[in-house]
Amino acid sequence: MIPWALSQNTALEISVEEVTRIKPLFMLGPREGHTVHWVIEVAPETLQKIEGKFAYLGMTKCKMKIYDSVTQCYNCQRFGHTARTCIDGQPRCRMCSERHDSRTCKSLTVKCPNCHSNKHDAASMKCPARTAATRKLTRQTDFGINDKSKNEKSKSSTTQSE
Ligand SMILES: [Zn+2]
Ligand SMILES: [Zn+2]
Ligand SMILES: [Zn+2]
Repeated sequence: MIPWALSQNTALEISVEEVTRIKPLFMLGPREGHTVHWVIEVAPETLQKIEGKFAYLGMTKCKMKIYDSVTQCYNCQRFGHTARTCIDGQPRCRMCSERHDSRTCKSLTVKCPNCHSNKHDAASMKCPARTAATRKLTRQTDFGINDKSKNEKSKSSTTQSE
């Protein structure tokens, strides 16, 4: 059963049918301590209702957000692969975008190698290139963010049966 008390979270307006489609995938977080993160899979229309909202699990108030698990390469700073599988021969600095190891960077200015912004480095959560990579990833895992029109079409045909 889903660890999700529907009656506790009526404010979210999730239907019983939607709840049955919520799939707990795995749990994250430190073994000791009280913080755990549940990673769940939901239908795109459910995601729209719950993203950024709070839900109650028993006595605990939980913030729900898109799971950001996009992989970033330590060598070239791009997303979607790791340094181990990187085909870029020379490292690119995550701070200044130049061709050197980030750890040896002496640059005083910041330049993001992924979006070329001068306001953050490649590790920034504010980077639009990171956001785009995350959205692509969530789409692949069927969260259907940017694919709204396509997904809604296919989903609505199943909900029209009532
Ligand atoms: Zn790489
Ligand atoms: Zn540098
Ligand atoms: Zn950036």
